[in-house]
Amino acid sequence: MHGRIRLSDDEWRRLLTPEQFRITRQQGTGPPCSGRYHDFHGVGVYRCVCCGNELFSSRDKSLIPEQWPTFWAPVRQDSISTSPHIVQFLVRTAVKCGRCDAHLEYMLPERRPPAWTRYLINSTALLFHDERCTATSGAGALVSRAGGQNMAEATGGAG
Ligand SMILES: [Zn+2]
Repeated sequence: MHGRIRLSDDEWRRLLTPEQFRITRQQGTGPPCSGRYHDFHGVGVYRCVCCGNELFSSRDKSLIPEQWPTFWAPVRQDSISTSPHIVQFLVRTAVKCGRCDAHLEYMLPERRPPAWTRYLINSTALLFHDERCTATSGAGALVSRAGGQNMAEATGGAG
């Protein structure tokens, strides 16, 4: 597991688009059946749009387009974290990035095997990394914007 990343809202605001910020840092959501990965079948890894953490593999993605891109399991158990989240008087299990706590969307119990759980993830919170491509572009806002700078330099200057 890589080190955890904690930035202030101002720092995230500088790294992300307004829509990415709203979804990942403010527990936002979007209309169902939308987003670039809703009906998408590339082979590779889905990373956190904020920090580049590997979250889900295309191997575990449901082939049937559901309301949100649906996965049966994370890449590693510690790729994500979960917590109860109350929305419109309903308690749901929120799924977050295990490294930077980006809000990804929800986990639901599933009545069928193999997984018994499914993860409904917002396309805006994800960055797809094609397995056949060796370039490291699209590794997350933090990685791509920070470039070769060290973290202290990249995250300094707030307040
Ligand atoms: Zn992250």
